[in-house]
Amino acid sequence: MLRAGVRHIDGILLTHEHNDHVIGLDDIRPFNFSTGRPMTVYALPRVAEQVRKRFEYVFGHPIPGLPRIELITIDKDTPLVIGSVRVQPIEVMHGWLPILGFRFGEITYLTDMKSVSDLEKEKIKGTQILITSALHHKDHPTHMNLEEALAFVSEIKPRQTWFIHSSHRMGLAREVGPKLPPGVSLGFDGLEIEI
Ligand SMILES: [Zn+2]
Ligand SMILES: [Zn+2]
Repeated sequence: MLRAGVRHIDGILLTHEHNDHVIGLDDIRPFNFSTGRPMTVYALPRVAEQVRKRFEYVFGHPIPGLPRIELITIDKDTPLVIGSVRVQPIEVMHGWLPILGFRFGEITYLTDMKSVSDLEKEKIKGTQILITSALHHKDHPTHMNLEEALAFVSEIKPRQTWFIHSSHRMGLAREVGPKLPPGVSLGFDGLEIEI
């Protein structure tokens, strides 16, 4: 956040409850301090419950200095508007766990996905910029590997795809990147996408 120069956040969308996707919530305090308001965090009911448990010290204790979070529960079928951006939630399967991805106009963000139903895929069609996860080269029960992610890309046919959430087993970006098809790139720290 500091390096990217982010000064303002309208809201935080949670995809699921795994620690690599929620544990940074404690670091929203500077935004609370600068706005004087709680940060709005959107999540599935199950995920919101997990946030309440894992950040128990945040809720119900109006102690100065603690992060302030306002949890709003969402579902896969109800679009929401955050600031001036319309957000369409999309349910994808993280192995056996249903989690959320999000579409913002021409951009779709799907992390930790293994599969997606045909019905939910309808929400993704027409995406121009796809951000999705490609874990590494071998099979994994809860994440798409590179081959599966590339097959998904050829089905959706976005103009540009950024692969995220890759493990160190993916290999070096300078070696893997050039082997990817045109319009498919590895994401990197500091990547900015404008909408
Ligand atoms: Zn996960
Ligand atoms: Zn993850």
